[in-house]
Amino acid sequence: MIDFHTHSNASDGALSPSELLNRAAAAGIKALALTDHDTIAGFESVSDSVPLGVRLVSGVELSCQWGKVGIHIVGLGFDPLSGGLVEHLSVLDLARLRRAEMIAHRLSQKGMPGALEGAMAVASGAQIGRPHFARWMVMNDHVKTEAEAFKRFLGKGKVGDISTLWPDLQQTVGTIAEAGGLAVLAHPLKYRLTATRLNALCATFVTAGGAAIEVINGHPGPGETERLMSLARAHQLLLSVGSDFHREGEYGAGLGVDTARFPSGSGIWERV
Ligand code: AMP
Ligand code: MN
Ligand code: MN
Ligand code: MN
Repeated sequence: MIDFHTHSNASDGALSPSELLNRAAAAGIKALALTDHDTIAGFESVSDSVPLGVRLVSGVELSCQWGKVGIHIVGLGFDPLSGGLVEHLSVLDLARLRRAEMIAHRLSQKGMPGALEGAMAVASGAQIGRPHFARWMVMNDHVKTEAEAFKRFLGKGKVGDISTLWPDLQQTVGTIAEAGGLAVLAHPLKYRLTATRLNALCATFVTAGGAAIEVINGHPGPGETERLMSLARAHQLLLSVGSDFHREGEYGAGLGVDTARFPSGSGIWERV
């Protein structure tokens, strides 16, 4: 059992980094990466106090863009002190703040004033993201559930979906590689690309220095893992797996993925 895609309350997850590690230890997970959105603050806060039996791999989930498409790249096994990475993360801090201001402005035009202050309070120091806006919208009776907030206001193609200010994919993959890490194309089927475009994305990712693609993210649909494994073979990419755990019973899966089904030598978990 391993898990190379998880979130803590340093971004949009519910558990603190140490609660997450304890849960991973209890679940018998041997190797874990905490991959918060655009921050390594959670990883850094626990990297010196990892429970016995768990190997904590440095991790992050970086927002970037491939043309107009927002893409997530997971970085694994990098040096957290790398100057290039630290600089990249500070650019992302600012991008997330600017985006939050834009989201709040658009929500105020939809009759929801005060969203910036509200979402910042929900985030309480964490890397701010759309889920914090969603929770604030529920708390203020603008919507009934967070799912509804995404469906009507924050999800793909809605007013709060702003994806034009992230660094580009090449630069993002380069930053991870320069920091001595391996770059993983996260949840390749969530971008809803045609097969041709997905192939083009993988080719660009490989050329940029990418190492692996996620063949399991949360609960894959029927045949999805097999489809992604052949995509990995076609582009000579390693495999990565993760729950995308955020909180109990929501969005991602529970912690831990069994890697027994994958051929020996194919997994990034054998390299980091
Ligand atoms: P952001 O990082 O600010 O772009 O927000 C994206 C995050 O929102 C994802 O990582 C998920 O945690 C969450 N998310 C995306 N879509 C949904 C949805 N339909 N319902 C609930 N949460 C979602
Ligand atoms: Mn998330
Ligand atoms: Mn993601
Ligand atoms: Mn994630």
